Amino acid sequence: MSDAPRTSVPGLTVTQDNEFFFRAAREGRLEIQRCTSCETLRHPPAPACPSCRSFEWDTVESTRRCTLHSWTVIHHPQDPAFTYPLAVGLVDLEEGTRLVADISGVDHDDLKTGMELEVGFSEHAHGEVLPQLRPAGGQA
Ligand SMILES: [Zn+2]
Repeated sequence: MSDAPRTSVPGLTVTQDNEFFFRAAREGRLEIQRCTSCETLRHPPAPACPSCRSFEWDTVESTRRCTLHSWTVIHHPQDPAFTYPLAVGLVDLEEGTRLVADISGVDHDDLKTGMELEVGFSEHAHGEVLPQLRPAGGQA
């Protein structure tokens, strides 16, 4: 038995199209899927390019620098795997794609559209390592 908190959050669904993302996160890197036909970046990972429909892709490593596009602060429903109130942000990555992740280390009253953040990583309820938004200039 694990001593992880009981959670109703489902585990990851890992596929051949998103395995790279979760593996890179475990290694402290944020990777973005790139179409090798037209070089369009896309996130979340998907089998085909939305621009040219190619199934060929590789990945590029993100700088993890981003700006806050929007956010919400969740109070309910609460799950034992998280601390509430829980801020969740949508950020524009420097590379041009967007990412959704929880926000840590910023007072919720200080959140502002356009503020600089960076992507770090944290371990979640089932041991998975996922992106987490943090103040710019911190440690991964
Ligand atoms: Zn393409």
